[in-house]
Amino acid sequence: MRNIPELIRMKRDGETLSEGDIRFLVGGIQEGTVPDYQIAAFAMAVYFRGMEEEELFFLTQAMIESGGTPIPVDVQPLRVDKHSTGGVGDKLSLLIAPLVAACGLKMPKMSGRGLGFSGGTIDKLESIPGFRTDLGKEEFDQEIEAIGCGIIGQQTGIGGVDKKIYAIRDVTATVESIPLIASSIVSKKIASGNRRILFDVKVGRGAFMKTVESGVLLAETMVRLVRRFGGDSTAVVTNMNSPLGHAVGNALEIKEVVECLKGEGPEDLMELSLVLSKELLLLTGQWDEAGASELLQKKLKGLEGLKRFTDMIRFQHGNEGIVEDTDRLPHSPIIFKVFSEKRGYVHSIDAEAIGRSSVLLGAGRMQKDESIDPGAGIYLVRKPGDVVAVGDLLAIGYGRKGEEVSLEVSETVRKAIGILDGPPKIEPLVYKVIRSVDV
Ligand code: URA
Repeated sequence: MRNIPELIRMKRDGETLSEGDIRFLVGGIQEGTVPDYQIAAFAMAVYFRGMEEEELFFLTQAMIESGGTPIPVDVQPLRVDKHSTGGVGDKLSLLIAPLVAACGLKMPKMSGRGLGFSGGTIDKLESIPGFRTDLGKEEFDQEIEAIGCGIIGQQTGIGGVDKKIYAIRDVTATVESIPLIASSIVSKKIASGNRRILFDVKVGRGAFMKTVESGVLLAETMVRLVRRFGGDSTAVVTNMNSPLGHAVGNALEIKEVVECLKGEGPEDLMELSLVLSKELLLLTGQWDEAGASELLQKKLKGLEGLKRFTDMIRFQHGNEGIVEDTDRLPHSPIIFKVFSEKRGYVHSIDAEAIGRSSVLLGAGRMQKDESIDPGAGIYLVRKPGDVVAVGDLLAIGYGRKGEEVSLEVSETVRKAIGILDGPPKIEPLVYKVIRSVDV
């Protein structure tokens, strides 16, 4: 007779669980008969012992089924999906979805809210006045048919057990486990009916995965796992040491998205959005590398990505006027400036410190269900590689929490921007691309 303490002991001692064991455990979590402390103990055992490939597949399958009947597999050849493991200033989905839609792809995307110090696409979109992320299935399907892209929150049913496990992992130091991350992400994507998926696996100071090696391992694990479910995926391991772009914070990031879609965004964001969009085009098998890159450049220059973004805002009940005039986005009343006390070159900007400061200003949540300030955040005037003199403006903070918080954040931001005498070695934006054929 199976029992949960025995399954935890088996995992703790490095034994392999059977499909029946895993179904028993996940079923118990779903029904609420497995208490939080046993979920926590199991997660810690997996953290230390890992999982065999077969166990990981059974866990993911059980998690998919825990959401009820999965959404039927969408066999349309041009339907794609994307997932980012989360970063600071990561607004790539908002650039990529309209760009690939302009190329003829269909990208119905479910996204999440901010988590810890990393921002969430849903919070960013909701900073657009009126924008709704809770469209019903029929309306969402119509949007994808008409525009090619749309972004809504996670639908009920999908990720039910994951939500419970994740909440416990978040407070028991067990988030950074490759099998737990892989099953959490892949189960939600497969349950949504997607079989062509791009993973952006972030590594560095502002990511769960701190080293390139661990990022590559997670990337390979997810690509293999998707293949077990009959899907095709690509994982791009990307740099998250410094925040992406200049803007961190919801409305500030929407403004930067508009600039990028006009072709006027910062270099790192422009480059990464084109690399990831190209990989999505390649996943459909309809283009080669040169053809995909050429088409994307053409769509960007013709402002067709910007048009799809505007159409998406209108369809989702938002004020599309923000595209013409980004000053219509919400503003926070307190603005403060951070100046350099050194001269030299900017070497690094600590993404985690900037992410945490942005949350402190009100751009993210410190408690579940807390409301956020859509105008709050940090605009990084200088980026790695820039030369600065004493007294130069480094960053601008936006918030509404009073002088004490502004002073604390100013100090943290100043320290987060590393300035040294000589020029820095510029780090790559993309470390590795892993496709199904590689694993
Ligand atoms: N994102 C998820 O959805 N799950 C994880 O475990 C980590 C990142």
